[in-house]
Amino acid sequence: MTPGFEGSFLGAADKISSLAIMECKICWTPYDPAMGDDTRQVMPGTAFLDLPDDWSCPGCSAPRAQFLVREDPGAPSAAVMAEMEARTKALVADFTEVFHSRMRDLPMVNQALHVQAVGFQPYEGGFLGVLVAPWFMNLVLLPGPERAVLKVGTKETVTFPSGAYEFMHAAREMVGPYMACALFSPMGDFTSQLQAVEVARAAMGELFRVENRAETDRAADIRALREAELAPVAEPDLAPSRRKLITGGLGE
Ligand code: FE
Repeated sequence: MTPGFEGSFLGAADKISSLAIMECKICWTPYDPAMGDDTRQVMPGTAFLDLPDDWSCPGCSAPRAQFLVREDPGAPSAAVMAEMEARTKALVADFTEVFHSRMRDLPMVNQALHVQAVGFQPYEGGFLGVLVAPWFMNLVLLPGPERAVLKVGTKETVTFPSGAYEFMHAAREMVGPYMACALFSPMGDFTSQLQAVEVARAAMGELFRVENRAETDRAADIRALREAELAPVAEPDLAPSRRKLITGGLGE
C-alpha cells in the first residue's frame, strides 16, 4: 500500500517511513534498512533517513537523493491518508472562513497569501504539518484519538528530533481540537504564496533533523520566550516569532 511516489526521494523526509526499502535509480542497487550497508559500515537497523548526508550508492556512488522507494512497509494506509486529507481540508476551510469573516480587511494581513496546509504527515496517531495563512504560519498538530486534549489555551511541550517546541491547545468548529506552535506572525515579509510554502516545507524538514538540537537545553529557550507567548496562536497579532528555532532565517 505504497502511496504514489513520483521521481526521486530528493531528500523529502516526509515521504518515506523508517522501514522504506530504497533503490538507486541509476544502477538499481537496493538499500534495505534491515541489512544496513557493509561497504560503508552502516549498521543493520539504520533507516534510510538516518544515513549520513554524504552516504552514496554502494554500487555507483550516486548521491543519496537519487534513490527511489522500492517498497515501504511503514507507509500509511489509504484509510489514514484519506483521513488526513479530510482533516486538513477542514483545517483550511475553517481558517479560510476566519479570513473572510474577520481578517481580510485588516492591514496586518498579507493579501498575496491564502490559507494552505503544507507538508502534513501522519504523526503519533494524528497528523502534523504547517498551516500557512495570510496572517500567520503555524506548526499544527491534529491530534489522534489517544492524545489527551487539554483545555483550550493550555501549553504543552512537544519534543521532535530537533528539540522541544511549545504548542498551544486550541479548538475550532470544523477542525475540532488541535495544537499550534507559532512560526511567523504577521506574514508581511513573504512576497508570494510559493515562497511561504517553500519556507513551510523547509521548516517541516528541519523539525525532524537531529542536527538542529542545540547543545543547551532547548526548553530553557522556550521558557525565555514564554513572556512573549501571550495567547492562542490562531489569534492575530499575538503570536511571537519562533522562526529561529527551525526556519533559520528563511523568508527574511
Ligand atoms: Fe547506484
